[in-house]
Amino acid sequence: MARVGIPHTLAYFLYYPFWKTFFEALGHEVVVSSPTTREILDLGVEETVNDACIPIKIYHGHVASLLDKSDFIFCPRLVSVRRHGDFGSETFCPKFLGLPDLIRLTFPKAPPIIDTRIDLKQGKKELESICLEVGDKLGNSHQDSLTACRKASQVHRQFLALLEQGKMPPEAMEILLNQAQPVPSQSLPGGLSIAVVGYPYAVYDPYINVGLLNMLAKEKIKVYTQDMLSDKILNREARELPKSMFWYFSNRAVYGGLHFMKKADIDGIIHVTAFACGPDSMVDRLLEIEAHRRNKPYLSISIDEHTGESGVRTRIEAFVDMLRYRRDKT
Ligand code: SF4
Repeated sequence: MARVGIPHTLAYFLYYPFWKTFFEALGHEVVVSSPTTREILDLGVEETVNDACIPIKIYHGHVASLLDKSDFIFCPRLVSVRRHGDFGSETFCPKFLGLPDLIRLTFPKAPPIIDTRIDLKQGKKELESICLEVGDKLGNSHQDSLTACRKASQVHRQFLALLEQGKMPPEAMEILLNQAQPVPSQSLPGGLSIAVVGYPYAVYDPYINVGLLNMLAKEKIKVYTQDMLSDKILNREARELPKSMFWYFSNRAVYGGLHFMKKADIDGIIHVTAFACGPDSMVDRLLEIEAHRRNKPYLSISIDEHTGESGVRTRIEAFVDMLRYRRDKT
């Protein structure tokens, strides 16, 4: 049995249930780093080049915190997670593509890194070969890896179903993996609804976004994110654009944002964007232009390692006040 370290950031928020199920079905122990803390951020800042975006710095901090607790670090090379079809080619941001190399160079004494290339552009069938390759690295038989892959795929489908029912990934994981009871919605009937779009590691990590979702929850606002939308809905939005953004997570943020802008019951859109993110400079501008065109209130929150809670809170409170005023007027 090996201890497999999984950093609690980046792809964690959408793919952790799959990989946890897979590794445990093969008899391994999954060691996940703690949710992001100041200490993890500091570790990451120390190890990463200055101009890296904050999610990449934080990823390094999570890996650093796992080094002495794991026999392997799971850092796959994410290339594509869906078939290339009507929407042209699509991949992950270059920092994702080079992540295993960055980690290997930053931590030369790290335990072996499982850097299997995840590329599903030919279809989901490739997932089985990926699982066989990961299982090989851990010394598992092909038969066991295939069985674990099927079990993990089933859990992943259940996870997606919970997201589509309106659960946030952390809550969906608790329900699915720890049998937690669903938390009843705190939103008020007839209250405000806001869509929060952005990369999952920015939207769902309360340390990075200084507790943005909690601030909205305290205001009893119903929050939607792009991950609650089915592929069918996101694909419909994709068809309306002349071309895609090319980066998978950027596409999801744009398609989700465009979908919510058309909904009369969504009062406003918040885009959580990472400072020094190349793709986001286009995503943010595109969403802002579209929101303006559709007369939908829009707030962009840019985060970096110096983002303070009080600054974000002030902007959120002003945005919410404006939305309430706007709603009362109509
Ligand atoms: S998409 Fe942006 S925030 Fe995410 S890893 Fe790439 S550069 Fe960083």
